[in-house]
Amino acid sequence: MNNTRNESISFIGPGDVNVPSILHDMILSDRIISVIIPYMALRSLCIHGHFYQPPREDPFTGAIPKETGASPFDNWNERIHAECYRPNAELHNFERISFNIGPTLHEWMLSHDPQTCASIVAQDQANVRRYGVGNAMAQAYNHTILPLASRADKVTQVYWGIAEFQHRFGRRPQGMWLPETAVDLETLHVLAEMGIEFTILAPWQVDSDSVDPTEPYHVALPKGRSITVFIYHQELSTGISFNPTLTSNADIFVENEILARFMTDKERIGEPQFLIIASDGELYGHHQRFRDHFLSHLVNGASSSRGIDLMYPAQWLQKNPARQTICIQENTSWSCHHGVMRWMGQCDCTPGDGRWKVFLRQSLNRLASELDLLYSDVAWPMGVDPWKLRNRYINTFFGLTTVEKLVDELAGHALTTEEVQRLSLLLRAQYERERMFTSCGWYFEDFSRIEPKNNLAYAAQAVSLAKKATGIDLSKQTSNDLKNVLSPRSGQRGDTVFLRFLHRAEEKSS
Ligand SMILES: [Zn+2]
Repeated sequence: MNNTRNESISFIGPGDVNVPSILHDMILSDRIISVIIPYMALRSLCIHGHFYQPPREDPFTGAIPKETGASPFDNWNERIHAECYRPNAELHNFERISFNIGPTLHEWMLSHDPQTCASIVAQDQANVRRYGVGNAMAQAYNHTILPLASRADKVTQVYWGIAEFQHRFGRRPQGMWLPETAVDLETLHVLAEMGIEFTILAPWQVDSDSVDPTEPYHVALPKGRSITVFIYHQELSTGISFNPTLTSNADIFVENEILARFMTDKERIGEPQFLIIASDGELYGHHQRFRDHFLSHLVNGASSSRGIDLMYPAQWLQKNPARQTICIQENTSWSCHHGVMRWMGQCDCTPGDGRWKVFLRQSLNRLASELDLLYSDVAWPMGVDPWKLRNRYINTFFGLTTVEKLVDELAGHALTTEEVQRLSLLLRAQYERERMFTSCGWYFEDFSRIEPKNNLAYAAQAVSLAKKATGIDLSKQTSNDLKNVLSPRSGQRGDTVFLRFLHRAEEKSS
């Protein structure tokens, strides 16, 4: 059955299970029907792509060093862009899936290929015009594991993610993708406080053995608030991500994998169902070749020819708000089955001795607290709320305001040039301090990789900037803490790496 809107139906076979129950009755009464039926989707499907890359830029020059593994391209960003982001934009796949693009990736993409960025934004806007809601979701800014962050950091990450989205997409986001889908109640509460209506979680992140993945749920939050969570379909999401044989033919994928996942008891009573398949967006063309074309056919013909409608979370909520309440499993994520241990300590997700992760997390937590003290001790006496200022600071990156204007607004009076300069340095230190919690630093098995080292480069820049602003040197304590960060593979130590970066940071600022 072709499920085109307002289609004229002259014959419907009784075997067509997607026919609304009222039409079944008409068929059973042996009458030939020829009616315009109002559009009524019983089976809806959403593909969600999480598009993100670890920041690969040299923290001091902003340029990505040559990466030989990415040949014939200069670096992995360029290669993944050519294999995935650009072809998917050209195929208009972004118009027909739900997606989020990490703000730091979006920034790089804008410098590399603004035309593709413009096309992606236009594809979201086409949905806004068509349905009144878009299909792009925001993302917490630095890909920080939010359950491991302080409340103030959660607020900043969500605020920055919303501001970035608004700037790039020209509208407020309704949904936000949580980095690694890592969740706790405080994070959801922060999202709800800032007007975010929904997020997407894995089935094991909610407190139920028999969660129905074909509809969203409310999660109750303090102060009478709530937020909607969509639960992605586990088998379909795992299959599409990790089993290339499943994704060689979209028609067969729909026939063999998707159709069977809709629940027959709901179909019998004519209840609409909504399946979400979530994966990394890079799957489509980079992790697996030709899957950009697989995706294109999946969302342009393979699904609709079998009576399945394409849908996005915001569009689904227009007619089908959550009906039931569910509790979440706090401190859980989609890529660690030990809660959020992967980003703070030893677990089986990465092989070998993972103790370096514990010490790296502890060292950076202590450094963050000390940087916050220095910053707030300068800001408060000037009559400036440091945390409001930090949140709004992101808008200076988009050219929407200046530090001078922000501090004047918050202080309620003009500050001296020297005061503004001190705050500027400390704000930049706070920006680096936010970056040093980028989750990729803990994701892999070894400290001797670019991702954890980049986090230490951000830490070194924060220490250098704070010293320039206040004269207080946090480097001794930090390098002492980082002595315990040891690469089991290369023997490289955290303090050595940190001090080398600190030297570069001080050279740069002198
Ligand atoms: Zn794990």
